[in-house]
Amino acid sequence: MELRPLGNTGLKLSCVGFGASPLGSVFGPVSDEEAIDTVREAFKLGINFFDTSPYYGGTLSEKVLGKALKAVGVPRNEYIVSTKCGRYKEGFDFSAERVTRSIDESLERLQMEYVDILQCHDIEFGSLDQIINETIPALQKLKETGKIRFIGITGLPLEIFTYVLDRVPLGTVDVILSYCHYGINDTTLEDLIPYLKNKGVGVISASPLSMGLLTESGPPEWHPASAELQAACQTAAAFCNKKGKNISKLALQYSLCNKDISTILVGMKSVEQVQVNVAAATELAQGQIDEQTLAEVEEILKPVKNQTWPSGIQKS
Ligand code: NAD
Repeated sequence: MELRPLGNTGLKLSCVGFGASPLGSVFGPVSDEEAIDTVREAFKLGINFFDTSPYYGGTLSEKVLGKALKAVGVPRNEYIVSTKCGRYKEGFDFSAERVTRSIDESLERLQMEYVDILQCHDIEFGSLDQIINETIPALQKLKETGKIRFIGITGLPLEIFTYVLDRVPLGTVDVILSYCHYGINDTTLEDLIPYLKNKGVGVISASPLSMGLLTESGPPEWHPASAELQAACQTAAAFCNKKGKNISKLALQYSLCNKDISTILVGMKSVEQVQVNVAAATELAQGQIDEQTLAEVEEILKPVKNQTWPSGIQKS
């Protein structure tokens, strides 16, 4: 599996990253045994980056990921773990006191001494000025204790990243995690990449399948996309299926093609999903994306290109 550098961190992440939200049983139940087998397969196939949050499954994702990593027994310095703070089952709290307590709780659940990256989770739901003036300074103190190595911010509207990065000293925020903005139906993250590169900020992109829009089975009921966007994606999925192609494979390969993005985080909960997603990356590394099907899918999705949905309390 190709490893890519993450901004100025010195970390090298597998281009396919393991999104551990499904280990919190948020997309159907996952047993500890299944989780362990899935994480073992991920290591076997070269994945070295695991992303979780106390929010996923109301802390269950962190607990199950920690248990699985321990059971598999790979040395801690051979893999990279990111978790988050500020978003919980109970709601949002980006206060210095809460995020400082949060990392201790996360480390205990993960059964680790440190995490590589701690990210402020979905900052558009908090006050961005609090993130700048209170949360990030608290995370800098955590860096000094060695409990975290790098600081990140995550969220949906892209303007939150420039708002924060324009107002913190260079090198304070190491990483951003964007989701649903670099896939076949939405490529708006691309416009931000020169700015992020210039600041030495690493780029993680999540949800290449647009949280289920670009799958044959379709998105979950709670998906926030408009009916028009959902329908167009389902038309594209059915078109691929009729051609004997799989839209999820094409979508993941499309996201992987942009090498300025360090890793593409896909939610995975089974050995089979790990195998299918890693095979898509391997196939791409050895050849080319299916340009013809991609062009046809892009044509189907043209009327909804870059359509997104509101998120958070700020204007988006
Ligand atoms: P996604 O869009 O890639 O996946 C959506 C769904 O597709 C999941 O249910 C997954 O189980 C399923 N899937 C995986 N591989 C598949 C395949 N080959 N074919 C068909 N279906 C497949 O991503 P996602 O789950 O929305 O996000 C991935 C990860 O990114 C999350 O687990 C999380 O770690 C991270 N993330 C973070 C944020 C944030 O910080 N705000 C937001 C979104 C995602």
